[in-house]
Amino acid sequence: MDEIQAAAEALRRGKLVLMPTETVYGLAANAADSAAVAGVFQAKGRPSFNPLIAHVADLAAATRVADLDARAVALAKAFWPGPLTIVAPALPGGPVCDLARAGLDSVAVRAPAHPVAQALLKAFGGPLCAPSANRSGRPSPTTLTDAIAETGFAAAAALEGGPCAVGVESTVVSVMDGTVRLLRPGGLARERIEVVVGRLTEAENDAMRSPGRLVRHYAPQSKLRLDAQAPLPGEAYLAFGPWPEGPMVFNLSPASDLNEAAQRLFSTLRAADSLAPLAIAVAPIPGWGLGEAINDRLRRAAGFIG
Ligand code: AMP
Ligand code: MG
Repeated sequence: MDEIQAAAEALRRGKLVLMPTETVYGLAANAADSAAVAGVFQAKGRPSFNPLIAHVADLAAATRVADLDARAVALAKAFWPGPLTIVAPALPGGPVCDLARAGLDSVAVRAPAHPVAQALLKAFGGPLCAPSANRSGRPSPTTLTDAIAETGFAAAAALEGGPCAVGVESTVVSVMDGTVRLLRPGGLARERIEVVVGRLTEAENDAMRSPGRLVRHYAPQSKLRLDAQAPLPGEAYLAFGPWPEGPMVFNLSPASDLNEAAQRLFSTLRAADSLAPLAIAVAPIPGWGLGEAINDRLRRAAGFIG
């Protein structure tokens, strides 16, 4: 039996699997199995009011989970498989268990593009809850090694998928009552979504934005100092754009490419953290494209929001 089939079999038996996606590595469980889903919350130390994303193979599978209106379908057709999560009303009697939805009558769905995730979803044949494989509050893993270090103890199988191509979590939008709201910036730039559905509505408050946004997130051990034009003595420096090399200097993208910076963000935070610096100073990052998601993660890691 090949690795994918063995992992699908483990999921059917209620076990957890480390799964690569194009955004970050996930800790996957059968979304219909509340005992398995409870295992995910426990392994991550994740508060149970923070609902999980149900991963599906494609739009057809998503329509068996959520009530997708015309705009949701247009978004799925434009961007799936890919780094966009759609929150929509859950279908009554649908497969995603209450615990995974944190008791809400909505559900978050996404079709990941990574070929290993696609193969696992097809072999398993149902939705998988797969939040980032880090322990709650820590930077997300973007390599299998980092995923194993975080929650490998809880997984029955771990699938190698190489370093994640996108590097930050999916963009989350809700599509309900005819309105498309941005709940979380992420690996699909706002500008690309607005081409399809027009100007996004801002969520009115953080609780509405999405339940999981209330907790400090993505944080390394070291303190972060944002918008730093240069490091102070003893600080590690996360540069963006041309910057001289140095023993405590990490460059998110020497070419000032925001996609590359997103892809390298979490692994670079981990690498800087491992030097145990006085603090990690981070260069200013522009706010357009994937810069919106990068700045969101950095502000949360610094403890400025949530
Ligand atoms: P994570 O699994 O850490 O990438 O987080 C998933 C994100 O989607 C969190 O911010 C959740 O709060 C959000 N989310 C998942 N399901 C829902 C839902 N039904 N309504 C609103 N936000 C959701
Ligand atoms: Mg996460």
